[in-house]
Amino acid sequence: MKEHYDVVVIGSGLGGLVSAIILAKEGRSVCVLEKNNQYGGNLQTFVRDKTIFDTGVHYIGGLAEGQNLYRYFKYLDIYDDLNLQKMDANGFDIITFDGDPKEYRHAQGYENFQNSLIAQFPEEEIGIRQYCTALRETCNKFPLYNLKQGKPYFEDQELFGQSARDYINSFTDNKKLQAVLVGSNLLYAGEADKTPFFVHALSVNSYIESAYRCVRGGSQITKLLIRQLKKNGGEVYNHHEVVDFEYADKKIVSVSTKNGKKIKGALFISNIEPKVTVKLVGVDKFRKSYTNRIEQIESTISAFSVHLVFKPKTFKYLNKNHYHFKDFNRVWNGHDYTQETWPESYLASMGVKKVMDGWADQLTAITYMRYEEVAQWKDTFNTVAHKNDRGQTYDGFKADRAEVFIKELEKKFPNIRDCIQSVYTSTPLSYRDYIGCNQGAIYGYTKDVNNPLKSFISPKTRIRNLFFTGQSLNMHGILGVTVSGVVTCSAILGDEYLLNKILESEKVSI
Ligand SMILES: Cc1cc2nc3c(=O)[nH]c(=O)nc-3n(C[C@H](O)[C@H](O)[C@H](O)COP(=O)(O)OP(=O)(O)OC[C@H]3O[C@@H](n4cnc5c(N)ncnc54)[C@H](O)[C@@H]3O)c2cc1C
Repeated sequence: MKEHYDVVVIGSGLGGLVSAIILAKEGRSVCVLEKNNQYGGNLQTFVRDKTIFDTGVHYIGGLAEGQNLYRYFKYLDIYDDLNLQKMDANGFDIITFDGDPKEYRHAQGYENFQNSLIAQFPEEEIGIRQYCTALRETCNKFPLYNLKQGKPYFEDQELFGQSARDYINSFTDNKKLQAVLVGSNLLYAGEADKTPFFVHALSVNSYIESAYRCVRGGSQITKLLIRQLKKNGGEVYNHHEVVDFEYADKKIVSVSTKNGKKIKGALFISNIEPKVTVKLVGVDKFRKSYTNRIEQIESTISAFSVHLVFKPKTFKYLNKNHYHFKDFNRVWNGHDYTQETWPESYLASMGVKKVMDGWADQLTAITYMRYEEVAQWKDTFNTVAHKNDRGQTYDGFKADRAEVFIKELEKKFPNIRDCIQSVYTSTPLSYRDYIGCNQGAIYGYTKDVNNPLKSFISPKTRIRNLFFTGQSLNMHGILGVTVSGVVTCSAILGDEYLLNKILESEKVSI
């Protein structure tokens, strides 16, 4: 490790690694510091009962040749080595509801998506077509989403203030279709009174264009990014938790790590969420209005997941996700569960083995869980690197919730219990401790149509050599965070400069 770097990146989540590679490719000396044993943040996989599970990469959109994420991953030189499995073209997401035996399909490709919905709701053809046009028109307003030069989207007030629920409901009065169109809203923790239409559009559009799973999990993305970072001269260190930022002459001069190192730099990029970063740097280093706003931004809800290992050759592999709701009138209300109604909705998804034989080795099901449910254990901290038993009451709580959740899954997959070999769980505390995010928030900060600028985070801060990246600015998700890395580096290198470089690299590779 050197004493001084051009760029020090704190956190090796996707945004941190993307920013690090871009700047290393530009000839800067770059060092990434990660607190965990495993790099990648939400890209991490974990092994239980000899079976690989994902944390935050269940499927990825926009990866077919020529699409947006494909083009960014080509620039980062990781696309060609990715091992992907294309999901079911005629239904990568299946939306279902209690009391309705039908499986409503979201198909890949706009023509296919439209036609399959029209076949399922023949009397709603006009509304379905208008909805698809609105999705594409909205996505076209985001230049970097389309690798185009253009004005930043935050200047468009109407776009920010448009509610997903209201706009979608304007295309059809059919309540079931309205529910089907937003059936994958766990993807962005959608809330009826808050979620903007652009958040819905940017999320679902990329999957409609193409949907893939990572063979043996999403940590392959981390490995490929780190390989490229090192190839370009960058360095990355695990077990290096940043605990302090040293400040002098109105800039950050170094960071200190828990293991007693001090790393100096010219530029610092924080991939830790802004609420936490501001506290580490010191609130007195920023304007009071800024720290107040950051403090008051609402975090997205957290989650509870069951990770099921199946007995060999008992549960068929399903090349699609299942989003299930108890009540189609409450598709936007999964957050507002009570102890009696939990879980109101869930996503069930499975991993892809190295050699597929038609059988699944595992399934992960995710549902919402508020942090308050685990708040009584908030003073414990538990990761692989820092073992700390949270106690028997916590184990009992997890076992109880897992049982309720599995009973719910049995309604959709009647034979599932007989196939289960072992059960593992993640709670809001798992997400908090592994990622370092506020209250285990799954997707950073809530975007709210009623106050669009409240959750807006610029990559630049008042401290001229401190920048943010990651899911708290821009959008969450693999695509959204890749773009956030580009946004951060554009703020450093110049807006047009970086995109031109990316576009030029495409010409060279043709
Ligand atoms: C349950 C779940 C399911 C998801 N499913 C999908 C999906 O199917 N498809 C999709 O596209 N997206 C999905 N996502 C979202 C996606 O995974 C994230 O948006 C993305 O990976 C976040 O990247 P990030 O750059 O913000 O970094 P993060 O993943 O937030 O990582 C931050 C990193 O900083 C490190 N760090 C924190 N504090 C310190 C410190 N003090 N010192 C050093 N290092 C520190 C952390 O350990 C971590 O490695 C999912 C997320 C969750 C939670």
